[in-house]
Amino acid sequence: MATYDAPTTLSPSRVESFLSCPLAFRFSSLDGLYDPPTLATVKGTMVHRALELFYAPSDLPRSTERMHACVNEMLVEYRNEPDVKYLQLDDSAYDELGSECNQLASAVFEMEDPESIEPIGLELNVQAEIGSVTLRGIIDRLERNAAGKLVITDYKTGRAPGPAFEKKALGGLNLYSLMCHRTFGEIADEIRLMYVKSGQTITARPNEQSLKFAENRVTAVHQAVARACETNDFVAKKSALCKFCAFQKWCPVFGGDPERALTEAPTRPSTGQ
Ligand code: SF4
Repeated sequence: MATYDAPTTLSPSRVESFLSCPLAFRFSSLDGLYDPPTLATVKGTMVHRALELFYAPSDLPRSTERMHACVNEMLVEYRNEPDVKYLQLDDSAYDELGSECNQLASAVFEMEDPESIEPIGLELNVQAEIGSVTLRGIIDRLERNAAGKLVITDYKTGRAPGPAFEKKALGGLNLYSLMCHRTFGEIADEIRLMYVKSGQTITARPNEQSLKFAENRVTAVHQAVARACETNDFVAKKSALCKFCAFQKWCPVFGGDPERALTEAPTRPSTGQ
């Protein structure tokens, strides 16, 4: 049975992926199996890009017209992207996807005053050395609030969690606040999850304690990943997420054999970059 070299880099989404299901983490992050795009994942990427264009520095006001222009620019940019092509949308379906993106991106007008936002980074790469692992990720939007303090914003196009799961949903952003602390030497004043589909915003205020917790969490997950790599013991953790898992065919929960995935499953296509 193959074993793996433990990764030296993790991202917040990989940390969450391992915690959700170690076996799905192995398939995706270590075996490089293909997790095909869906309409929902593609839509999420496209809305993020439209919002990145909208909040980019410009002399133009952040109006609804500007949002439409940014969505249109994004639609031209994405028409021939491999993930979009995979969905095989005809022009009318692509137009419909564009309208949905416009509707989702435009939700920010109801959730904040776009003119008041002063980003210092959009789709910003951040990283920090946490013990023996490099934590690396991309912040959707980093800005300074009226008091000059850092605010980290993450856009979400899926459904907002119920009150009992809000803390869990903020797990990834707590890791971003840790990377910001290491990068800027400041504790962010606020972390924000903006659920543009429902117009809900979930926020929290990081502090010394939450940073320490995030640091311990990354260290513990990295140790657990290393142990699993050494023994090739990646637990299949059944949950509601199984419904959306692309690897069911090779998962023991569904009667599959994980080792057969290595020879049978398609790997991620090369982007040629
Ligand atoms: S089907 Fe469920 S248990 Fe199996 S790998 Fe996917 S997420 Fe994990």
